[in-house]
Amino acid sequence: MSKLKPLGFIWALPYSVLAWLGILLLLLFKQADKISASKDLMFLCKIKGDSYVGSKWFWDRGFIGFTLGNGIFFVESQDTNTTIKHETRHGFQYFVLGILFWPVYVLINVFIYLFRKDLHPYYDHPLEIDARKYAGQAVKIDWDKKDRWSWW
Ligand SMILES: [Zn+2]
Repeated sequence: MSKLKPLGFIWALPYSVLAWLGILLLLLFKQADKISASKDLMFLCKIKGDSYVGSKWFWDRGFIGFTLGNGIFFVESQDTNTTIKHETRHGFQYFVLGILFWPVYVLINVFIYLFRKDLHPYYDHPLEIDARKYAGQAVKIDWDKKDRWSWW
């Protein structure tokens, strides 16, 4: 894996460049207060929890982390280390799938929604299960069997 990481980094570059632009904008508009780099080739962008982006795009939507290429965006929570681990795994997934990450992610999501009505498109998404396993989180998540649409 480690020798392949630089190749994966290049393969995921289109999404990473978007993430870097996002980080610049978040800094410019004072929405983020800490940027750091991890040994896993990830940029960690800590978004202020009480900023517009932190409250409207993260807390209000039930998000505490989001990954785009090698850019990890997160709000500080009780379990920030686990969140960063989970999102780092998504970063590795970007290194493997590269520009295909979002087409693959959305296709699986829609496939589950349409053809596997017993499963949840987000909770049972293989890339989410993989990330939760990696981060040591609960792999199987119980849901109310009603609201299956996970996009809005
Ligand atoms: Zn995830």
